Amino acid sequence: MAVKKKKIGAAGRFGAGYGKVKNKLIAVERKQRIKQECPFCKGWAKRDGRSIWLCTKCGKNFAGGAFHLKTQKTKN
Ligand SMILES: [Zn+2]
Repeated sequence: MAVKKKKIGAAGRFGAGYGKVKNKLIAVERKQRIKQECPFCKGWAKRDGRSIWLCTKCGKNFAGGAFHLKTQKTKN
């Protein structure tokens, strides 16, 4: 029988331990790799700094979420 391996992806760099935190990190880092759509044109925006986004197509600089352009609304 093959040994069951957990899919930890990019969080594998931390080695053993930190199980729950690693799972959260995977969720965040996967989301970061999704392309962010520019609100002005149909191009893609790149993160240029904390909450600053730069469109690769129209070259516009604009503000957005710190790590994702469209931030999720938190449940209160
Ligand atoms: Zn654009």
